[in-house]
Amino acid sequence: MSSGILRVQCGARVHLAARFLAAARAAGVPGGDHLPRTVRCAIEHHQDDTAHLGILAELPLTDPGEIWASWLDGHDPHDVQRRPYCPAKDEHGTPCELHQAHDGGHSWALAERHITAT
Ligand SMILES: [Zn+2]
Ligand SMILES: [Zn+2]
Repeated sequence: MSSGILRVQCGARVHLAARFLAAARAAGVPGGDHLPRTVRCAIEHHQDDTAHLGILAELPLTDPGEIWASWLDGHDPHDVQRRPYCPAKDEHGTPCELHQAHDGGHSWALAERHITAT
């Protein structure tokens, strides 16, 4: 590959332990029993020592935003944060799916990274 301009989504996956999901529900994260058991890091590929960020739940349209889980490589998620949507749109009006003030490129600029299961 000679091109250095391809931008890719991180795509790292993490399993959400039952106790993490229970704590998230207790903290008021919507979704009840329908929270995912795994999340994927949605931001642009980043440094190994910085936190991954994956979408845990969407908030209702009356109160827009998303709940994001963050974790470090080799660790369980340690935090959930409510974050508003990134306000950016591409030239077709497609909104960015990431949170406000995220690191890296907007979601439409990132190629999905296909990681073969190990
Ligand atoms: Zn990541
Ligand atoms: Zn964005």
